[in-house]
Amino acid sequence: MQKSVINAVKDVLYPGACPLCGKPAPVVEGSRLLACPECLDELETVGNVYCLKCGKEIKGYDKQYCYDCARVKHVYDQGAAALAYTENIKQSIYRYKYKGKREYAEWYGQILAKECGSRIRMWGPDVIVPVPLHPKKLKSRGYNQAALMAKALGRELGINVDCDYLARVHNTAPMKKLTTEERIKNLKNAFIINKNDVKYNKILLVDDIYTTGATVDACAAVLKAGGVRDVYCISLCVGKGI
Ligand SMILES: [Zn+2]
Ligand SMILES: [Zn+2]
Repeated sequence: MQKSVINAVKDVLYPGACPLCGKPAPVVEGSRLLACPECLDELETVGNVYCLKCGKEIKGYDKQYCYDCARVKHVYDQGAAALAYTENIKQSIYRYKYKGKREYAEWYGQILAKECGSRIRMWGPDVIVPVPLHPKKLKSRGYNQAALMAKALGRELGINVDCDYLARVHNTAPMKKLTTEERIKNLKNAFIINKNDVKYNKILLVDDIYTTGATVDACAAVLKAGGVRDVYCISLCVGKGI
């Protein structure tokens, strides 16, 4: 059977759902869109005024850094994020991580490339490395949400992706309710470089959500100690800065 026929049959059986509302996305000129145009309209991208360190949106052109980055010295060099952490994307990520909607990764990769592609090209990373999951978590979830996103982004931008470079050796406690200090402590010794025979100079880390930066800082510390010169990070969503 021709590939186009197989795809058409697949689409009837499993119509691609919009990652934002979860309903089948509309078909335009014979092919199904990845997301509904009206859902995309509601999406809030990070504006043009963002923190020069973490990429979080900030108010006012008079500041260079967000409140957090003006006070905390990050280990990573620079970061960017595509979307503000609004309710629709929050729900989308929940379904992506906990309800098996791994197919959303394709669209996430496209959004990352569209919103942050020019900054990524400017940084010129050798490789994209996803923030790793602990093997136990990987087994129960079945996939690493950051790795699928990293692969989709790599395909969009034509950059290599190395999902095994970093490993998570400690299964850390959930960090939602922890303070920055507690997060840093929680992540101490959580990551290792898995491939000591491979050398990269510039790495772009990928994660789904950026909160305090403690996770990417913990990864960046290990990478820099291992000889990586520049570590950048990118995330699909980020909270708003002040
Ligand atoms: Zn939709
Ligand atoms: Zn910042």
